[in-house]
Amino acid sequence: MRVIVTGGAGFIGSALVRYLVLEKRYDVLTIDALTYAGCEASLSVVANKPSHRFLKANICDRAAMDRAISDFRPDRIMHLAAESHVDRSITGAADFIQTNMVGTFTLLEAARAYWNELQAPAKTAFRFLHVSTDEVYGSLGDDGLFTETTPYDPSSPYSASKAASDHLAKAWQRTYGMPIVVSNCSNNYGPYHFPEKLIPLTILNALAGKPLPVYGKGDNVRDWLYVDDHARALDIIIEKGRVGETYNVGGRNERRNIDVVRRICAVLDELLPADAPRDELITFVTDRPGHDARYAIDASKLEDELSWRAAENFDTGIEKTVRWYLDNAWWWQPLRDRYDGERLGLNAGSP
Ligand code: NAD
Repeated sequence: MRVIVTGGAGFIGSALVRYLVLEKRYDVLTIDALTYAGCEASLSVVANKPSHRFLKANICDRAAMDRAISDFRPDRIMHLAAESHVDRSITGAADFIQTNMVGTFTLLEAARAYWNELQAPAKTAFRFLHVSTDEVYGSLGDDGLFTETTPYDPSSPYSASKAASDHLAKAWQRTYGMPIVVSNCSNNYGPYHFPEKLIPLTILNALAGKPLPVYGKGDNVRDWLYVDDHARALDIIIEKGRVGETYNVGGRNERRNIDVVRRICAVLDELLPADAPRDELITFVTDRPGHDARYAIDASKLEDELSWRAAENFDTGIEKTVRWYLDNAWWWQPLRDRYDGERLGLNAGSP
């Protein structure tokens, strides 16, 4: 099996590449522009494998995408490259429009040109998976869950650009008959998560004895999924999912942001006792504009139709994650050292 993964030097993309190369034994071409969020070190365990290749390229570059696809001749394309940080989308949306919308369009067109030229059985077997977020559905009240038929209602420039890219992927399936499947997932966490996001930022600030910023009152609810569960889900969806369908991916692990931060403090206090409980470092900061109150995914379609189950629950997953950050300063320290979030006014970890 030959698979192209775009955004494979990012958080979820690198987990997916590690899974496909090391566990599935697939031949993988990672395509990534190495923006501030891309990190080749996240792929160090596959760097010397002959079954893995890395191409530094931008998905907006049509000629580069055409060349990469026609040279590699993939059976599958899994599209994860995106600008992914909500707060950055609020301070500057241009890159989000460019990569998430224009980049997805460019990649779809390059994939369509390649697919048009394929002959059966390769043509029938080819699949394109567009990877997206539950944020396209907007915000939930106190109850209810997002299903695959929930109307789109994005709140941030990030989620609006992802919603647009989902519509492009679905249109390319309906209009051109391309074999495309879409997935929408809840918040991920786990190893190799860029330290501007809520969970890694909290772990690393707590270790450094720095304030732990939390938006508003910390009441916003997210549905957390361990990243390796997501990688496995994506492989199952592209392998067995029905063309033209959407699959929601979620861990049934709803938590308020404040409870996530408190849990991380408790795990750290247990593993590495400090003079004072680390939750004393919690600092509430002005809420993000347009902050969605609650996300929660109904993953029954994926569970019932494709027999996927999340293996990790939040309590075990968060402990594994904290331990990983304690053991892997080689990975996060350089990213922390060149982090520009404070200059951009990003004053809290993005949930
Ligand atoms: P990330 O920001 O960690 O990684 C994105 C990767 O894409 C980076 O390696 C970056 O260098 C690369 N990239 C950005 N612009 C590019 C371009 N123009 N050309 C080529 N490469 C480019 O993001 P992530 O958290 O790993 O998310 C991956 C995908 O999953 C995204 O599409 C995101 O919308 C989606 N998603 C993320 C979450 C989450 O909780 N993180 C949840 C659901 C869905």
